[in-house]
Amino acid sequence: MVVERTLSIIKPDAVARNLIGTIVKVFEDNDIKVQAMLMKKLSQKEAQSFYIEHKERPFYGSLVAYMTSGPVVLMVLEGNNAVERNRKIMGATNPAHAEEGTIRKMYAESLERNSVHGSDSPTSAQREINFFFPNL
Ligand code: GDP
Repeated sequence: MVVERTLSIIKPDAVARNLIGTIVKVFEDNDIKVQAMLMKKLSQKEAQSFYIEHKERPFYGSLVAYMTSGPVVLMVLEGNNAVERNRKIMGATNPAHAEEGTIRKMYAESLERNSVHGSDSPTSAQREINFFFPNL
């Protein structure tokens, strides 16, 4: 087991529906610790550059609009195999394909409004943590 850090975002749809505490509890119940936490409304520039790898995708503009539509909660999570375990706890990108008991299965509204973000690899985790928490 390797102790890792990963970046998690509680997205605007979940914040708007008062699910911050509910989602944090899922991580804590899975022995994942919140190491840093910040609530903020992302600027257009931040959302565009955070999701730069999707720049050419047809949903990029809509994704950026959604991610800037209301406040998000940015978190650095830490735990054993946190990157992979967080992805499991979140469930598939499309809630229609997510397993029972995952955050997206329980709370996501749609493929786009899917309640949480989680880094998809240790390399992305490093980039994403540094993007929002450069002093950590
Ligand atoms: P993730 O790593 O599971 O978040 O998935 P991706 O990196 O593939 O996509 C980033 C985010 O873009 C997803 O979490 C969704 O919010 C959104 N997204 C992904 N695919 C689609 C799509 O086909 N249509 C729309 N509208 N949004 C999408």
